[in-house]
Amino acid sequence: MSSILVIGEAEGTEIKNISQQVSAVAAGMGDVVGLVIGKNISDAGMKLATAKIILADDEKLEYYDPVKFSSVISQVVEQNSITKILMGATTMGKDLGPRVAAELGWGYLGDCLEAGSEGFVRPTFAGKVLAKSNPEGSIVVSIRNNAYPAGESWSGSVENFSGNIPDSTTNTVSIEKGGNGTVELTEASIVVSGGRGLESPENYDEHIRPLASVLNAAAGASRAIVDAGWVPHSHQVGQTGKTVTPDLYLAIGISGAIQHLGGMSGSKCIVAINKDPDAPIFKVADYGIIGNLFDIVPVLKSKLSN
Ligand SMILES: Cc1cc2nc3c(=O)[nH]c(=O)nc-3n(C[C@H](O)[C@H](O)[C@H](O)COP(=O)(O)OP(=O)(O)OC[C@H]3O[C@@H](n4cnc5c(N)ncnc54)[C@H](O)[C@@H]3O)c2cc1C
Repeated sequence: MSSILVIGEAEGTEIKNISQQVSAVAAGMGDVVGLVIGKNISDAGMKLATAKIILADDEKLEYYDPVKFSSVISQVVEQNSITKILMGATTMGKDLGPRVAAELGWGYLGDCLEAGSEGFVRPTFAGKVLAKSNPEGSIVVSIRNNAYPAGESWSGSVENFSGNIPDSTTNTVSIEKGGNGTVELTEASIVVSGGRGLESPENYDEHIRPLASVLNAAAGASRAIVDAGWVPHSHQVGQTGKTVTPDLYLAIGISGAIQHLGGMSGSKCIVAINKDPDAPIFKVADYGIIGNLFDIVPVLKSKLSN
């Protein structure tokens, strides 16, 4: 059995749901060790669903720093004879995974939809093709949000990281959340996205953001309105934006161009609102409402608010 390291991402006193999903996948693949890195993360770390947990809890690790985090991981890998590292394909995971792979001289597979002892499956060419890999050597893998259900709570041992934390020239002093409100687009279980059918940035603020807020959802966008400067690029869903796989994706005034579909077609349930019955978005939608969004969205918002 190989030893697998799961990187747990802490958020305050909680461990991110994506890390619990990754733990559940890893449990079927070998002996699993969890590693949580940060400052004052012990309460969150104890909740990671792995049999053994290593806590790297230090003032110097308060903010995500690629140099420090990848060094801590490399040391844990060496001390625990790890051959696979699994993490969530989050903003941090997408940055950290390739760096760790480069530091260790391992392979890297990003944004996987399936993971198991028999290999890994990930979308390529904007989701048109699913590539299956069965790497022979050691590997770092990131797993897309919502690909698996979260693991149960742990019942194992806890260790403190005893290695060395290097200095970093990056020297991150603070991290501010950008963009779309409180819910991160790639980790949201509901995404409400708007497109050019909204006609103006004011209408995006009037219709998309309040509906997202009522649903505790993240607000997303098509590239057309990002390019028009209505919302920042951090909102963009699609081939050249973010890939989202929420339980529910609402596409409002979005035509469903192939490049947009590449970023959201893995959503569990897709609801489209569009006045054109031939809009391509309806080909991937589970539920479609053909009509004027300016009539439909206010009704939806008011029903959901009650
Ligand atoms: C290399 C490349 C990469 C790209 N990457 C991305 C990407 O990452 N993400 C992305 O989104 N796009 C991407 N695009 C752009 C993509 O091809 C489309 O141009 C874009 O997605 C269209 O955005 P849209 O659906 O908002 O606009 P449109 O295609 O103009 O669609 C607007 C829709 O709103 C509907 N509508 C209008 N008024 C109303 C109303 N009152 N009520 C209801 N419906 C209404 C219309 O029927 C129409 O279907 C990329 C393109 C290229 C070439």
